[in-house]
Amino acid sequence: MNISELQSYISEVHDYPKKGILFYDISTLINNSEAFMFSIEALASLLKKYDINKLAAIDARGFIFGAALAQKLGLGLVMIRKKNKLPGKTLNQSYDLEYGQDTLEIKSELSQAKFALIDDVLATGGTASAAIELIKKGGGTINCFCTLIELEFLSGRNKIQIPYETLIKY
Ligand code: AMP
Repeated sequence: MNISELQSYISEVHDYPKKGILFYDISTLINNSEAFMFSIEALASLLKKYDINKLAAIDARGFIFGAALAQKLGLGLVMIRKKNKLPGKTLNQSYDLEYGQDTLEIKSELSQAKFALIDDVLATGGTASAAIELIKKGGGTINCFCTLIELEFLSGRNKIQIPYETLIKY
């Protein structure tokens, strides 16, 4: 397996979730054990050079890669969830969507560590920026943001003020 072979396991779905959007679907990648395993090995080696002692992952597809990576690296994992999904004391951060706003939350007592943040796709960067702010709000350090896929044409990378790594670019 190599990166371009890995890329062939990502499905491109036109007009989802709405007309005009080309959706990069990782369902077909994680459905193949070899592709899924290769993606985790490759993401783990991207993270090698960073000083981290915890992973954080973004609701919901980020959890798939975040959980597998945490096991591979022997690190704990913190969930950054959509609002009202976490019990107990939380910190929250709102961010703009194409239409309206959404909010991410983290458990406040879990937010102090040296993090790498994981998601499946970087698109406009709004979600990742909010997640990064949230970790900082909780007193955590965030040393790297890492995705499987970057949609380079949306320039989300320009919004990310910390080191960024990706396996696949469109
Ligand atoms: P954004 O805040 O625009 O960077 O959007 C990032 C979030 O939306 C990520 O969590 C992605 O899972 C998802 N996303 C946005 N655009 C796409 C796309 N074209 N294909 C797949 N997922 C996407």
